[in-house]
Amino acid sequence: MNDDMIRRKNRIRKEIRRLKNELSEIDRQVISLTVLRKLEALPEFTSAKTVLIFWSMDDEVDVRDFIAKWADRKKFILPSICGDELSLKEFAGVEKLIAGDLYSIPEPEGKPFNEFNEIDLVIVPGVAFDRNNNRLGRGKGYYDRILSQLKGKTPLIGICYDFQMVEEIPTEPHDVKMDGVICG
Ligand code: ADP
Ligand code: MG
Repeated sequence: MNDDMIRRKNRIRKEIRRLKNELSEIDRQVISLTVLRKLEALPEFTSAKTVLIFWSMDDEVDVRDFIAKWADRKKFILPSICGDELSLKEFAGVEKLIAGDLYSIPEPEGKPFNEFNEIDLVIVPGVAFDRNNNRLGRGKGYYDRILSQLKGKTPLIGICYDFQMVEEIPTEPHDVKMDGVICG
């Protein structure tokens, strides 16, 4: 990866960080609910039995209550940090989550979930997205590595606040495109 690419990606990461700092907790909850209402109306969500999603960090669209709300009707799979890779684990309740190795994000315990064919829908967090469904992450490439195994097999839907939708994200060949982005 060349220095210019790192600089261009980091410039967007920095700008989004600034905008996130201006967001109040109320704004965060209101926008999150808007995004989640759109997600619930999505046919791919309605029909999905198994959904790969994520446990939100404090600066992301908050899907934590949403997961708890739907947990008796959908099987949710969450990422778990395993060295340089994300492994997948089945969500078995909020009380069963443990702090993960990266940023202490809560993640399920137990054995990895390897039934990739069973996943009907993937909900993807990101630092920024653009209108061409490109995604920018936090810079570790975790999602690119796991999503490259799911691309084309199941819909990949990014979710974000509207200010995270930017004009153009610089991309490299390893960056995995979304199939759609929901913002609020
Ligand atoms: P992010 O997607 O988190 O914004 P980048 O796309 O900038 O991060 O990728 C960060 C690093 O991860 C890069 O150095 C890149 O080479 C590496 N990386 C990402 N995806 C892959 C992949 N599929 N195989 C090998 N390395 C990868
Ligand atoms: Mg990437």
